[in-house]
Amino acid sequence: MLQFASTKIVTKAKPIETLAESAFLHLPLSAYHGHFAHPVVQAGDMVLKYQLIAKAGDPFSANVHAPVSGRVVGVQKFPDCGGGMTSMLVLQNDFAGACIDFPAIPSDDPPADTILDLLSAAGVIGAGGAQFPTALKYRAAGQHIQAFIINGTECEPYLTADYVLMRERTASLFEGIRLVNTFLQAKEVVIVIEDHNHELLTVFAPYLAQARYAGIRMQVVMEEYPQGSERQIVFAVTGREMAPPLHPSREGFVVSNAGTVVAAYHALAERLPVVNRIVTVSGDGLQQAGNYEVPIGTPVGYLLNQLGITPEHYTIVLGGPMMGRHVTDWASPVTKGSGGILVLPRDPVKRENCIGCSRCVEACPMRLMPLKYDEGWRRSNLAMLKNYQLPVCIECGACEYVCPSNVPLVASIKAGKLLLRKEG
Ligand code: SF4
Ligand code: SF4
Repeated sequence: MLQFASTKIVTKAKPIETLAESAFLHLPLSAYHGHFAHPVVQAGDMVLKYQLIAKAGDPFSANVHAPVSGRVVGVQKFPDCGGGMTSMLVLQNDFAGACIDFPAIPSDDPPADTILDLLSAAGVIGAGGAQFPTALKYRAAGQHIQAFIINGTECEPYLTADYVLMRERTASLFEGIRLVNTFLQAKEVVIVIEDHNHELLTVFAPYLAQARYAGIRMQVVMEEYPQGSERQIVFAVTGREMAPPLHPSREGFVVSNAGTVVAAYHALAERLPVVNRIVTVSGDGLQQAGNYEVPIGTPVGYLLNQLGITPEHYTIVLGGPMMGRHVTDWASPVTKGSGGILVLPRDPVKRENCIGCSRCVEACPMRLMPLKYDEGWRRSNLAMLKNYQLPVCIECGACEYVCPSNVPLVASIKAGKLLLRKEG
């Protein structure tokens, strides 16, 4: 059983802080698997904070809004942390903070049949990392939803962004749940947290006692990586296994990250688009470790420099250490799905050959054979990758974490999936 609560102690105790804004923001036009938004502004245009600057090109992409006021520099390619290059809209901050005019918002709840449109308009996507458009997820779930599960487990080591969000923005979290459920009409609504965060029970108690939030209940689960993945959390709540071809959404379970629900609150109650996110900056012994709310598009290098960290001296990971991606270009931005930036020592990892110990097989929550993916990828053996069900892998990294030979399993898995996609 993989447990990482000890890595979170320092930043759990820290509040959400802000930093001086960057002069330039790099706003990704693609969120989910290469589906792009199309710019509706041109180089040289002046834009206001919250203004729509790129419109979703299809249901799998998401609207992009200006997190600050300023001048559009244009569209440029930047490294996407996945080893490729991706188009981003570059915005020069004028530091005026001028916002668009919002129309008066009715005090009533938005009608249920407008909820999905409001979420789409605000560019709300999964904040847990996958960045799947939230409106599409809720629409696909259909009408007979057994449970709406709010995922507050945040099982990756070091990350506490969701924890501090739930602790400090509790009212927004509960209102977001209530408003989303006016559309979902789930029979059961459950907020799931891990046992090492049990103090949240006290924080949530005044809300759970209100008639306004009747029907919402808490469930505390034992800490275990990767508890936060959709299938694992449905199993933890319901005891139902969701091994493929079963999928939670098709079985009546909707799982949303706590950060997604707070973003939904801002979209539904305030008509505010997603322009900021909270990231945990952490690493062993890192003095500047904390939780920072920054504009989307803030370059990682700028953020770290603000904290007095020279990124060149470290290994930098965007996301958690298990599922995050190494940052090799400091212009890479914080995205709507970035929960953390890890600052780790630059120890070269000695990679050795597989010794066939099968620890990776025992650690795999999806009951896969990870060692076969390294072999399959190295031999370009597509049949092997398919036969051992590579597409089912959730890229949780548990196999590589336990591997005594440091076989680069996750890199092989990602490369293998790319190979399969190319082959169609
Ligand atoms: S844990 Fe590592 S060494 Fe052991 S079987 Fe898996 S890949 Fe091979
Ligand atoms: S990364 Fe994939 S193969 Fe490895 S443990 Fe996670 S689900 Fe299993």
